[in-house]
Amino acid sequence: MPSVEPAVEDEKRRVLKSAFGFDEFRPGQERVIDALLSGRNVLAVMPTGAGKSLCYQVPALVMGGLTIVVSPLIALMEDQVAALRLNGVAAEAIHSARSREENVASWRRIASGEARLLYLAPERLMTERMLSALSRLPVSLIAIDEAHCISQWGHSFRAEYLELGRAREVLPAARMIALTATADEATQQDVLQKLFGGDAEAFVAGFDRPNISIAVAEKRDAAAAIERYVAARKGQSGVIYRISRKKVEETAERLRRSGVNALAYHAGMEAAARAAAQEAFLAEPGIVMVATVAFGMGIDKSDVRYVVHGDIPGSLEAYYQEIGRAGRDGAPAEAMMFYGLEDVRTRRRFIDEQDSAPERKRVEARRLDALIGFCETTACRRQTLLAYFGETSGACGNCDVCLNPPEVVDGTEEARLLLSLVSDTGERFGAAHIVALAVGHLSETVEARGHDKLAGFGRGADRPASDWRAILRQLVAAGALTVETGAYGGLTLTPRGARILQAGERISIAKPKPKTRERGRMAAE
Ligand code: ADP
Ligand code: ZN
Repeated sequence: MPSVEPAVEDEKRRVLKSAFGFDEFRPGQERVIDALLSGRNVLAVMPTGAGKSLCYQVPALVMGGLTIVVSPLIALMEDQVAALRLNGVAAEAIHSARSREENVASWRRIASGEARLLYLAPERLMTERMLSALSRLPVSLIAIDEAHCISQWGHSFRAEYLELGRAREVLPAARMIALTATADEATQQDVLQKLFGGDAEAFVAGFDRPNISIAVAEKRDAAAAIERYVAARKGQSGVIYRISRKKVEETAERLRRSGVNALAYHAGMEAAARAAAQEAFLAEPGIVMVATVAFGMGIDKSDVRYVVHGDIPGSLEAYYQEIGRAGRDGAPAEAMMFYGLEDVRTRRRFIDEQDSAPERKRVEARRLDALIGFCETTACRRQTLLAYFGETSGACGNCDVCLNPPEVVDGTEEARLLLSLVSDTGERFGAAHIVALAVGHLSETVEARGHDKLAGFGRGADRPASDWRAILRQLVAAGALTVETGAYGGLTLTPRGARILQAGERISIAKPKPKTRERGRMAAE
């Protein structure tokens, strides 16, 4: 059901075939193009490789007039202009790495109306001279690539981008499209406001990587779990992410001792050693790379069969990018994350200690909450992940939740026991202590503080400690408890926690699944 006029519809398809040689639009491309062609402004969020360029190149040719493409990187501009010219499309780039003569010649082809697309860096577009020259030309479209650079909340803020919102005032007849591969909800909203004053349609598409199965598991002894995981996948290429250099070294060493061809990669290594590790990983089969987030930018190895997170990543955006390094060849691949409340505390501390504005910290804290929510979700993980990027989908059938759905039951009584223990001990203790109290595990600390005299002590002895840990994590994910960053990583009650404890509010939980290996073991986190 085309949403543009039939003549435009025909022209769109003709351009796709004649200028680019493609028969079909990719999912997402057509909706974006139709929105532009029917006069709307667009924010398009699509992962790398999804085909963002076509989203403005096709409308550029269909609409006629001049399309301005704003791009931050000269190399990227050059690539695109070369590719367009190869397809017979008149495209120009004006930038500082070209000679004055070349730039003048380009400008002549623009002014004469010969050129269809003009690539510019943001600071070049926003000079008074350029703007006033362009205001005399029939500019029909402005495309802004890497649009997340306008948001101070993203990690690649560029001051030059802030000015771009003004381009619309100078060129009011032009439609505008902003494109990016990385923007969560907060960044999307920021881009919409700053570039469009809120007046644009957002499209998010193509984030799904259906061949990657997704799973999250409780973390106890991460190194041991990783060793077992890797041993069960002998000979396969994989990436193991760890949070610190020290953990990278330790995990790689442990894997090597168990006979795995494992390499380490982190920013603390000599540049030459890092390059050698990366080269070996790309060239040889069956290498397991243990790395910090420093590893992965621009790594294009098609047969990585799994990505393991030994510690929780920084955000769902980071998670998505990191697991996206698996299964580029389209064959089945796996993403496994091990997580525990310890990790949550570490991440909270990173946020607290970073030197940034309170607003930024609040955004980061919300991102962490979203990640915890993903870890504890009782819905399809892929659905949860895609929803975070604004993409709607059905249950996937290829994640741990879909394959082994948890039973959701009323957990109010269990929650009350844990919340009362947190409250009665002064909201200062971490998960291990609270769980020990629930199961009635006597220790010196417990006795010294008289916690064995609490009403709730041992009232949860009918369940294994692992159940209580799972319920505690769910209370954190449900926003009934928060993890403090102080020395003890104490749990504190939120308003919701207080309502559950005192005001009769009920809470559903996923029924903890029996874990044979862990049964009967006491909490000693
Ligand atoms: P992005 O900017 O989103 O990373 P690109 O625009 O560079 O992606 O496109 C990635 C690749 O996909 C390019 O090689 C492009 O030619 C190809 N491509 C884009 N759209 C289509 C399509 N409709 N059919 C087939 N291939 C396409
Ligand atoms: Zn699923």
